[in-house]
Amino acid sequence: MTAVREVDAVIVGAGFAGMYMLHRLRGAGLDAQVIEAGDGVGGTWYWNRYPGARVDIESLEYSYQFSEELQQEWEWGERYAPQPEILSYANHVADRFDLRRDIQFSTRVLSAVFNETSNRWHVTTDKGEQLSAAFCVMATGCLSSTNLPKFEGLQNFKGDWYHTGLWPHEGVDLAGKRVGIIGTGSSAIQSIPQLAKQAAQLTVFQRTPNFSIPAHNKDLDPDYVAEVKSRYAELRAANNLQPGGFGSRTEANEASVFEATEEERQLQFERKWQIGGFGFLAAFGDLLLTKDGNEFAADFVRAKIRNTVKDPVTAALLCPKQVIGCKRICVDIDYFETYNRDNVTLVDVKEHPIERITDKGLVTNGVEYEFDVLVFATGFDAMTGSLAKIDIRGRNSMPLVEKWAAGPRTYLGLGSAGFPNLFTISGPQSPSVLTNMICSIEQHVNWVTACILALRQRGLTTIEAEVAAEDAWVEHVNEIASMTLYPSCNSWYLGANVPGKPRVFMPYVGGLPVYAEKCEEVARNNYEGFVLA
Ligand code: NAP
Repeated sequence: MTAVREVDAVIVGAGFAGMYMLHRLRGAGLDAQVIEAGDGVGGTWYWNRYPGARVDIESLEYSYQFSEELQQEWEWGERYAPQPEILSYANHVADRFDLRRDIQFSTRVLSAVFNETSNRWHVTTDKGEQLSAAFCVMATGCLSSTNLPKFEGLQNFKGDWYHTGLWPHEGVDLAGKRVGIIGTGSSAIQSIPQLAKQAAQLTVFQRTPNFSIPAHNKDLDPDYVAEVKSRYAELRAANNLQPGGFGSRTEANEASVFEATEEERQLQFERKWQIGGFGFLAAFGDLLLTKDGNEFAADFVRAKIRNTVKDPVTAALLCPKQVIGCKRICVDIDYFETYNRDNVTLVDVKEHPIERITDKGLVTNGVEYEFDVLVFATGFDAMTGSLAKIDIRGRNSMPLVEKWAAGPRTYLGLGSAGFPNLFTISGPQSPSVLTNMICSIEQHVNWVTACILALRQRGLTTIEAEVAAEDAWVEHVNEIASMTLYPSCNSWYLGANVPGKPRVFMPYVGGLPVYAEKCEEVARNNYEGFVLA
């Protein structure tokens, strides 16, 4: 029989959440072990290596703030860092804080089962190991479980196929190839311009067009970097007061879109368009609150698309009909311009879904399209997908997937009743994907570390969400989401991209500052809503 290794904490995942959790728990004197499926750190930035992958929040803000030395010494090259640069940063962090010695790579956690007698988590891996831990921290990421729709006949395809989220590390040579890409979300919108430059022909299969704002990416000006670094703490503090944990330097406008004249609206939208990026949605304070107000912004972007794309039929197909911002807004480099290339074709699969994959390509609307390479940019089983892959069982052997069958049920997105000492970093029903993820990760990790220390100082063993507190939190999360336009379209925020997944809005829309204050208040009030034992 394999010996059971005793540790204080098991952390699942060595992305930005797992790495920082390890650093903090180690600093608190705990013996923590990270288990990571990949053979390197970086999480989503380790797996997503498709051409064009880059962050959509400015690099100087999409980075850790816990170490002043780290943020002073690291040099970002571009306004929006490309994936290789972010992965280098993750590796630098792992080396700088000597994290690797407590990370076991190339290993998957298969199960995590709570033992009610010992009050410990029993964790097994695909390498046959068994660990016993007082605490189990799921740092499994929100967008790490890829979604590959069950297209009939995929096994027959004679060419090569790839999912953007599992792109080969050695890259793919597309020179002279006929490439088909399915999907037009952020991954597709970033990769399509790059794939079009490499391939002989690129055919894009679009089910739902998306809104995208130009990144206006550029090399960072050294004077600007020096200026940010001279008052980095100030910038971080200001960002932590923003709903999304970023963007304090780009002026947000609280005014209502209805109060502006048509000319003022156009001027404001144009200013935001020229700045580029997510800030576009902060052009007015109420763009995500009413359909009529939202329509002003949506119309502005649709006009930009029609002005950019020369073929009117393609331009019309590329114009989204849904509310802008309801699906996560994309940030691009030359996305719409790419449709002016002779080697790029857009095919609508909304009216006529993809019927099947054949040995040569795929069929839609009775027409077979032939390819050498197929790219699935079909997204992720977001927020809960990676947790569901692990057999997590709490009290009475209750599987987490069963408890969450009708949608996630958590208290603060940090824990779930019946699952003591199990923490979900950036879990569902926390601000997570609606924010600068690294900022939300640090807030969660700091809270969990303080919580574990508080338990230890008081000689307590377990912390567990109360059912009533959890019910109230779930209701609150749903209630405030229903006050926005978010639930009005089929997005991965709602699980609507995965057939059979319950349609529940998963992130907390109340913003990071309000949420962080709520977490602090809970801690101050002796972890109100949790049972400490
Ligand atoms: P996504 O937004 O879920 O997009 C998936 C695409 O595949 C959608 O266009 C979807 O169409 C399409 N699709 C799915 N199943 C299909 C089917 N059976 N037939 C035809 N089309 C199908 O996934 P993603 O692009 O990977 O992005 C997910 C999230 O990851 C982003 O929203 C973002 O948060 C993050 N991300 C960020 C960046 C970045 O800029 N830093 C880059 C990539 C990803 P429907 O819309 O009709 O479902």
